[in-house]
Amino acid sequence: MRRRYGGGGGLTSSYAAPYAARMGNTVPGGGRSPFDPPIDQLVEMGGQAVDFAARFVEERYTAPNADMGDLEELLGLLGAFPPNSGRSFQDLLELVGQAAAKGFDPANPGFMAYIPGGGLYASALGDFLACVVNRYTGLARPAPALVQLEQSVLRWLCDLFGLPSSAQGLLTPGGSMSTFAALVAARGSRLGEHFLDGALYVSDEAHHSVAKAAKIAGFPADAVRVVPADEALRFDPEALGEAVRRDRAAGRRPFLVVASAGTINAGMVDPLDAVADVAERENLWLHVDAAYGGFFQLTDRGRAALRGIERADTVTLDPHKGLFLPYGTGCLLARDGATLRAAHDVAAHYLPDVTDGLPDFAAYGPELTRDFRGLRIWLPLHLHGTEAFRDALDEKLDLAYYLHQHLDALPELEVPWRPDLSLVAFRPRGGTDAECLRLLDRIHDSGRVWLSSAPIRGRVFLRACILSHRSRSERVEELAAIVQDAVSA
Ligand SMILES: *Cc1c(COP(=O)(O)O)cnc(C)c1O
Repeated sequence: MRRRYGGGGGLTSSYAAPYAARMGNTVPGGGRSPFDPPIDQLVEMGGQAVDFAARFVEERYTAPNADMGDLEELLGLLGAFPPNSGRSFQDLLELVGQAAAKGFDPANPGFMAYIPGGGLYASALGDFLACVVNRYTGLARPAPALVQLEQSVLRWLCDLFGLPSSAQGLLTPGGSMSTFAALVAARGSRLGEHFLDGALYVSDEAHHSVAKAAKIAGFPADAVRVVPADEALRFDPEALGEAVRRDRAAGRRPFLVVASAGTINAGMVDPLDAVADVAERENLWLHVDAAYGGFFQLTDRGRAALRGIERADTVTLDPHKGLFLPYGTGCLLARDGATLRAAHDVAAHYLPDVTDGLPDFAAYGPELTRDFRGLRIWLPLHLHGTEAFRDALDEKLDLAYYLHQHLDALPELEVPWRPDLSLVAFRPRGGTDAECLRLLDRIHDSGRVWLSSAPIRGRVFLRACILSHRSRSERVEELAAIVQDAVSA
């Protein structure tokens, strides 16, 4: 039923005339939103989506690791603009399925390229629920209980890394954004508003996200001081100390050192305690990039490897790697939450004050409105329990150890570094870079595993990073056999 529309004043004539011609004197719309179909249809669509998802998970174990062929027709289809009138959900789901099949498959148990994560089904359901309830969690007051849910995970992480009660965490879209927020906090805390003479230190094995963060934070390129790593590809604390003193003598202001807990190329852990000693002595902010390796802290061996991380001012974590979560889940921990807040908060007075001791996440990072990331991480942790994650990560350490042993025993291969965590880098002994890449092609021809390559010390290496929750003994043994066949082919 359309209600009568009284008065009619206020509309300008250019707007009102066509409106009146179309509607007469009625108010348009009413009833349920046209985007909320009846409940049985909602249930049906949900069922189709869950059906798709469950089947997708089931098929991972037999699916190929990559599908790089026959794109043209599909790209044409997917390039279409949205239609005037809608299409059936089932048809669209089918199209999504076809699109998802193309390219690399990071959800595959054979995916050991880059840094895998895998994606957890429980997280996907959590995201679905978070999107449906669509509560606003950028501030505490609009959704205090959901903010507490997210905060409980952050407090658990601060505790896991031995940070004091002044610490605060923040869920971010990924490691790069975490490192950016950390760098901005360090800059604000140590350099103030005029920072162009500031200098920050990384090893040449550090992830490029640090240089990127420095660039977008407004530093000139030569503010990023690259210290050559030692023979074992780890940060050399002595070289760091010398670089800092040299720069200081030349009038620069050293303010930050970024150490890695798991480097991207070879998976090495920097000597965090020794770097922390230099940071302390030279009054540098210590940031630890633990995007890849951080969650091994849950295991005894990982905790031993990461010793010293508890001395960091800020830590980058990537739950979408070491907690196997879907992409889009990064995390930053700050020893003193107030530094993070000081770097980002502009004291917007229209925002409500702190509620029940809960943080306003918007004041701790660049985002105001954001997705509710808490459920994506809280749900699997509470559903499976932390022991399941610890066991899975312990298993990855064992599997990397096994793979290293196996490959190292092959005379055709050079396997120079014993893995600190779960990454094994290797190349054909005495081979050229081109031969190394041809070996990668032969390995990929199997369809069962997917590795990546990286330049280390000026030479191309192949790397197998075991971090998907689905990469278990069968697939790693299969990888070992595939590599063995491929080197002798
Ligand atoms: C993945 C990774 C990053 C970047 O994190 P994103 O989540 O991809 O933004 C930074 N450092 C290391 C060591 C990484 O493994």
